[in-house]
Amino acid sequence: MGASGSGAIAARGTNAAAFGGVANHPRISKTRRADEPAPNVADYDEARSTFRWSDARRAFEGRPFGLNIAYEALDRHLDGPRADHVAIRWLGKHGEREEWTYRSLARETRRFARALESLEIAPGDRVYALLGRVPELFVTALGTLRHRAVLCPMFSAFGPDPIRARMTIGQARVLVTTERLYARKIAPIRSELGSLEHVILVGDDRASTAVPGTHDWATLVASAPDEHAIAPTDPETPALLHFTSGTTGTPKGALHVHEAVVMHHLTGGWALDLHPDDVFWCTADPGWVTGTSYGIIAPLTHGVTMIVDEGELDAERWYDTLARERVTVWYTAPTAIRMLMKAGAEPVRTRDLSSLRFLASVGEPLNPDAVVWSQEVFGRPFHDNWWQTETGGIMVANLASAEVRPGSMGRPLPGVEAGIVRRGDDGSIEEIVAPDIEGELALRPGWPSMFRAYWGQPDRYAKCFADGWYLTGDLARRDADGYFWFVGRADDVIKSAGHLVGPFEVESALLLHPAVAEAGVIGKPDPIAGEIIKAFVALKPGFAAGDALSLEIIGFARKHLGPAVAPREIAFVDSVPRTRSGKIMRRLLKARELGLPEGDTSTLEGPGSS
Ligand code: ATP
Ligand code: MG
Repeated sequence: MGASGSGAIAARGTNAAAFGGVANHPRISKTRRADEPAPNVADYDEARSTFRWSDARRAFEGRPFGLNIAYEALDRHLDGPRADHVAIRWLGKHGEREEWTYRSLARETRRFARALESLEIAPGDRVYALLGRVPELFVTALGTLRHRAVLCPMFSAFGPDPIRARMTIGQARVLVTTERLYARKIAPIRSELGSLEHVILVGDDRASTAVPGTHDWATLVASAPDEHAIAPTDPETPALLHFTSGTTGTPKGALHVHEAVVMHHLTGGWALDLHPDDVFWCTADPGWVTGTSYGIIAPLTHGVTMIVDEGELDAERWYDTLARERVTVWYTAPTAIRMLMKAGAEPVRTRDLSSLRFLASVGEPLNPDAVVWSQEVFGRPFHDNWWQTETGGIMVANLASAEVRPGSMGRPLPGVEAGIVRRGDDGSIEEIVAPDIEGELALRPGWPSMFRAYWGQPDRYAKCFADGWYLTGDLARRDADGYFWFVGRADDVIKSAGHLVGPFEVESALLLHPAVAEAGVIGKPDPIAGEIIKAFVALKPGFAAGDALSLEIIGFARKHLGPAVAPREIAFVDSVPRTRSGKIMRRLLKARELGLPEGDTSTLEGPGSS
């Protein structure tokens, strides 16, 4: 993905001091309270050297039905002590509260699978979900997997265009949605969705519905028989179709198979340090891969209690939830963390957050000052980790047992071979073994949750692999101790006066300026330098845009980054365009700057489509 269109990526040695904004924060070592469990990975080097995929896969053999995600997430617990443990504690938008045990959730998924059978849905058919974070979403997801149909979750805030595109690409046969979402988003386009045969509706306030041309959840699912045996599931059976975030272009449908659960389970233990007694909160919506891999599958395979919050991001609500539910492990994203930082430390001081044991972040670069902030405010650092829709699970992570290097994504997990490579002009791949050199982050294929296809795009899939590597389209560097540092997306990277500059490090430095609330950085074509660095900056309240502030910010950036890497131009904007999952859409800033078409904006955050 990503870099394939942009030709060779030159690598260069970097002087870490030139990137002081990112690399120079003190490392954070941790102390464990006496009442905390020991980290799942005690010794990183030993875990890596003794790990074998063959052993890991063997641990999942001998199941009655082959390898089925729904079995691993639910049924496996039903004969043991966790059967009546709370699997999901659901917090409704308006203060409702509902608890689902492993047993009750499994029962509903059996009913859902029976409902699919009654509709003559075959294994492999695509079942789409367009639901908010309601319990029916989890039943749909696991019931679909149980039946061996392919689940495609969509973000409920999508408007009709992105919905139509995703349902057409994946040839949706079933859609589960709500009465309200159906009326607003599906009914107007239903005649264009040729493959769609069945729509199952959850009524408003989860009551019964009677909308012509649809099935009522309460009638079809809730009253279906609750007996259902999982049919034999080969590990390579297609399971999940996940669309990428669309940060760099048209979203791609990455296909994952049931064997992915091996990775979900292992990484839930390694990178999120899940223990069975944890109360775990993954704040991502299951419309994105994080919300499925780690908001449904991984935690359930560990038998923990998951918090599911139907509400939207809100500092007061979130802190209340963390405190009241006694959350122990919290997995969120930089965009949310920055929002919490804006709310300040006061809301933390007034609540008892002592249950929190492990904090993790994913999705975009985690600015080092956010890690330092969390250490100050929570007494715990955020642990950044890196992965993609395509990898299906976490690949690189800061572990509970290791010191945190603010600004670093951490180290490759056991079984994950990550390298920094350079693509030659002739398409050849050369691994860069020396430390601190920027290049493309690449992975040796073979982990269980690796995507098996881009749905309907075999050429695009094939282009992601070369010389025995999966090429991620992200640029990074590895330090001498094996920690990886994100540089930027290959498509976003700026080539200025012979330097390769990752926008993230420039943005991170700009965010340190007291007036800067948000920053997005691009390369602007320049006849002499090739590209110059241009920053789009949104200001905090109380600061006035103008030439004086622009000069001051440029001077500030020069001090932190050096003149070669500091922006030469600043444009003030009200906000920086982001995807709905919070990632900066630099390609949009660039298109606007150059007066070019904006391309696919289906995942752009903004009013109007929700
Ligand atoms: P598209 O592929 O459609 O452009 P996308 O890459 O944003 O969208 P995702 O698969 O949701 O879609 O996101 C994965 C990407 O997010 C990674 O390739 C990387 O660029 C970024 N990312 C994820 N985690 C991190 C992290 N910890 N640090 C920096 N970047 C990250
Ligand atoms: Mg991507």
